[in-house]
Amino acid sequence: MKNVYLFGSGITEGNANQQNILGGKGANLAEMSNLKIPVPPGFTIPTHICNHFLEKGKLGRNIHSAINKALIKIEKNLGKKFGDTKNPLLLSVRSGARMSMPGMMETVLNIGLTSKTIPGLIKKTNNEKFVYDSYRRLIMMYADVVMEKAENKHQIKIREKLEDVLEKQKNKRKIKKDSDLTVEDLKELISQFKKSIKRNLGMDFPDSAKAQLIGSIEAVFKSWNGKRAVQYRKIESIPDEWGTAVNVQSMVFGNLGEDSATGVAFTRNPSTGENELYGEWLENAQGEDVVAGIRTPKPINENSKTSQTKNNDTLEKLFPKIYIKLLKIKKKLEKHYKEMQDIEFTVEDKKLWMLQTRTGKRTGDAAIRIAIEMYDDKLISQNDVISRITPKNLDEIMHTKVNPTKELEYIPIATGLPASPGGAHGRIVFSAEDAEKWHAKKKKVILVRHETSPEDVQGMHVSEAIITAKGGMTSHAALVARGWGKPCVVGCSKLNIDLKNKILTVNDIKYKQGDWFTINSSIGTIYDKKIGLVKSNFSDNLFFKRLMEMSDKVKKLKVRTNADNPKDAKLSIKLGAEGIGLCRTEHMFFDKKRIRNVQKMILSNDSTSRKKAIMRLLPYQKNDFYRILKTMSPKPVTIRLLDPPLHEFLPSQKNIKLIDSLAQEMGVKSKLIINRIIDLFEINPMLGHRGCRLSISFPEIAEMQVEAILLAAARLIKEGYNPKPEIMIPLVSTDKEFIFQKNLVEKIATQIEQKTNVKINYKIGTMIELPRACLTAGEIASHADFFSFGTNDLTQTTYGFSRDDIGSFIQNYFDNNIFDEDPFKTIDVDGVGRLIKKAVIDGRRRKKSLKIGICGEHGGDPKSIKFCGEIGLNYVSCSPYRIPIARLSAAKNCIVAHKKK
Ligand code: PEP
Ligand code: MG
Repeated sequence: MKNVYLFGSGITEGNANQQNILGGKGANLAEMSNLKIPVPPGFTIPTHICNHFLEKGKLGRNIHSAINKALIKIEKNLGKKFGDTKNPLLLSVRSGARMSMPGMMETVLNIGLTSKTIPGLIKKTNNEKFVYDSYRRLIMMYADVVMEKAENKHQIKIREKLEDVLEKQKNKRKIKKDSDLTVEDLKELISQFKKSIKRNLGMDFPDSAKAQLIGSIEAVFKSWNGKRAVQYRKIESIPDEWGTAVNVQSMVFGNLGEDSATGVAFTRNPSTGENELYGEWLENAQGEDVVAGIRTPKPINENSKTSQTKNNDTLEKLFPKIYIKLLKIKKKLEKHYKEMQDIEFTVEDKKLWMLQTRTGKRTGDAAIRIAIEMYDDKLISQNDVISRITPKNLDEIMHTKVNPTKELEYIPIATGLPASPGGAHGRIVFSAEDAEKWHAKKKKVILVRHETSPEDVQGMHVSEAIITAKGGMTSHAALVARGWGKPCVVGCSKLNIDLKNKILTVNDIKYKQGDWFTINSSIGTIYDKKIGLVKSNFSDNLFFKRLMEMSDKVKKLKVRTNADNPKDAKLSIKLGAEGIGLCRTEHMFFDKKRIRNVQKMILSNDSTSRKKAIMRLLPYQKNDFYRILKTMSPKPVTIRLLDPPLHEFLPSQKNIKLIDSLAQEMGVKSKLIINRIIDLFEINPMLGHRGCRLSISFPEIAEMQVEAILLAAARLIKEGYNPKPEIMIPLVSTDKEFIFQKNLVEKIATQIEQKTNVKINYKIGTMIELPRACLTAGEIASHADFFSFGTNDLTQTTYGFSRDDIGSFIQNYFDNNIFDEDPFKTIDVDGVGRLIKKAVIDGRRRKKSLKIGICGEHGGDPKSIKFCGEIGLNYVSCSPYRIPIARLSAAKNCIVAHKKK
């Protein structure tokens, strides 16, 4: 492997496929120069040198010599010399990891300005102000990045101190904008900066071009292990050993005067996905001005205008030739990368230079639209569409929004740029630290900042939403929030934040930390109230519909839903459910009109009075099953016979009032009821008298439920429907338990078929949710039509972790790296998964036609769905709102499997 890779200087040694070596930025700079797109010449120091540097603590002699050789090539290409007194070359040093880590790593610009080179550059550019402005920027960045952060002197906060000096100078001179500073002001500033650096950091600002370059390169490498980079990697699961590359590139200047500018853009709208260039720019500015939110940038074209920038001049209008060139580059890049790009450019004296291209971050809505439209334009295939859209994208479009009718009742106190869509409410806090503290106390927070910086990521992550007073659509807050799908409003200039006293003033009204706010970040409005939220109406989104159709064409696993009422059943069909995989019946028993009969049934001492109470429930249950089966017909509906322990339906022993009224109604003494409650008490009810064990003791309950299901089915058949009930026996551990229940079901079925004279197409199967059931699955399968893995209980009983109590200690498991994932969220493939696999193999060996699904919470988890597909399940069943994710995940797995073949 080489020690440096040149680009843009006639020789280009890398390409886009070398992201692991060159980092994303370096690989794409090389690729752009391969595409003959104008890129300022430079070189990339690859990622493995980072690891080497971090290990040894210094750059080796061979690296120094490779850097020198590369510099000579660039100098020759540009006809400038680094450190030269007459025609000095200036450089930028930027980090670039394999995966984009927005704002996480360091950048130093204008390297090479020293007391020797400054006069030469002034002479050459004839622009003294530009040169001194560039120098003061270099000093600020270098002091912050190289002299403070890389040396672990964060507490000094030199950047803030230098900003202070700058503000004071502006105040003294009664000017508002940095660009109004005169040459004399700048000289004065520079001298004060240097004094402050010496005083605070105990070192002089280096006056050697080479020292500046090496200091910057080393600082970028060190920043890989900086606190904020480590935090970001943890959140995004980026391995520590990847390291970052360093890009050393010749400077081009957007702040050279009226004919210069700088900007950032997305090749398509990152919020909506619309196929139009979307971006921001500033004339006579350096790149950091746009991104850092120091000046509020202008829209690049009409399309990029917002209510706040509608009167600003666009790049399209002021630099029409450059704009046309940008459009051509947009096309070229998209055709080449077949992806929406996020680009940075600079115009130096009317010449356009591209400084960066990378895959653009986007909202879920935009991701789906862009992929489908690129498919329509034949840029990508259907499989590409499915591979590109992530479950997270879908999660995001199903985002919570502010209730639109409620929102009309309020007037926003301020409006900003809609940086990342959605809606949220929470208590306002003014620092990332406070956000974390409040979050730890289970309080919902909205983080309100002037602008965010990478130091804030942890606090941003725990916040419901983010609001910033400064910055544009490509500011740090906007990028990070959009990447996470978190509601975010930026550039809200009406906000006046007093950090010290934790007070926010808007329109002369003061708000304190902890006050409730709501934001609608789809339009950028901010309210000083807590407004209700509603889920999004994504099912009307045509691009979403097409994505789902594509997924269904590819996937093999069927996707069912867990639903126990007609409303959810209807919703699930809308979302693409192919059946109900789990209809729990216990909720039906809690209905106000029924609970008394359930309680009477439980409290009965003999079979006759028990049966009497139970049969009062029959008409209700018949109606329940009739409506659900009708909604789903002809799709299958797996109905689980009553599962929970009976004590769950009784009042607590302490609820004397309820016990008394129940006793009165039943004509018995309260004491009798209390005694029965005591009788039913179980030390460990989850392992107690529940599931099929209940109907072994009290067969009347199961008999009534089976009768209700089959009578409902018979009625529907007579009405011309095609109901497909699948009766499911819960918590079976032996084949004998199952046979006992099956006989009961068949006895009732024969009676109903004779009584109604209708042949019913029903199945009898079981939940597999105990390890013993997995181990004896072959025997059970010989009697069952289907299996459905109840992975909630199966995880509980395999690990021996109570599913209700694990929350109190699971964090310790994460902290000590015992668990990477919560086994109640993602199937534990090595343990629970092994049992499932065995049960599938043994079950199918005994009965080839055995239908097998999963109905635990894992049925909606992408990683678990992958496992289910791999072991050949027929379906997964999940809650209605997970269905789209399950459909997409199932399709993705088929594509991966296809590619592997
Ligand atoms: C299960 O145990 O996985 C299951 C689906 O049943 P429940 O959650 O109702 O116990
Ligand atoms: Mg269960």
